[in-house]
Amino acid sequence: MPELKLGDLSITYLAKTSDRCKNATLKIRRDLTVEVVIPSGEKINVEDFLKKESKWIQRKYDELSRSKKTIEPNRILYRGKYYPIERESESGRLGDVEFTGNKLIVHINEGADPQSLIHNWMKSETSSYVRGKVDELSKRFDVEVKNIYIRSISKWGLCSRNGDLTFNWHLIALPEELSEYIILHEFAHLSEFNHSKRFKKELSKMCPDFSERQQRLGSYFTV
Ligand SMILES: [Zn+2]
Repeated sequence: MPELKLGDLSITYLAKTSDRCKNATLKIRRDLTVEVVIPSGEKINVEDFLKKESKWIQRKYDELSRSKKTIEPNRILYRGKYYPIERESESGRLGDVEFTGNKLIVHINEGADPQSLIHNWMKSETSSYVRGKVDELSKRFDVEVKNIYIRSISKWGLCSRNGDLTFNWHLIALPEELSEYIILHEFAHLSEFNHSKRFKKELSKMCPDFSERQQRLGSYFTV
């Protein structure tokens, strides 16, 4: 991927074209690559565009480097709090992951990599939370949900045109009000497939303080 220096910052970027956008857009991916999407047929000098947007890129980089990460080598973010990760190799429960309320114990042979056990645990915690919560909220707000998927995606939640909802497998890392907000946000997309005024009106019926929650979400990042 091409690299570019913007002041003190050096970035790698990826340029794509799309039929679906009217203006060039920028996005910072989880791996900190800057993605530029250019409307098909437009002649835009990508490096000039990036230079013009360098303040925004710098600000996003700063935000991302300060934001909370969900899984770190020695600790994990779970329902809004960090807990230490400990290893245990002599319990006869190899392969188990156990949350005690104040730490996460991974039962694993010495020297083995706990990553996939931790990932599976997090994914299954997210899955049971999301399924329970969707069930509760869909009854309360009389919303019909078709399929629910828990996957590795770049956003917290997604709603497809046919009404399937997909949630990020890290969702359980967030404080309860924020994971609930993500679910309600996707519920609102079931009737309004955009972020229009009508969408916000729909969302505010279920979640009156949605903009405050949306703002708080900015300090979490799922690298
Ligand atoms: Zn949305």
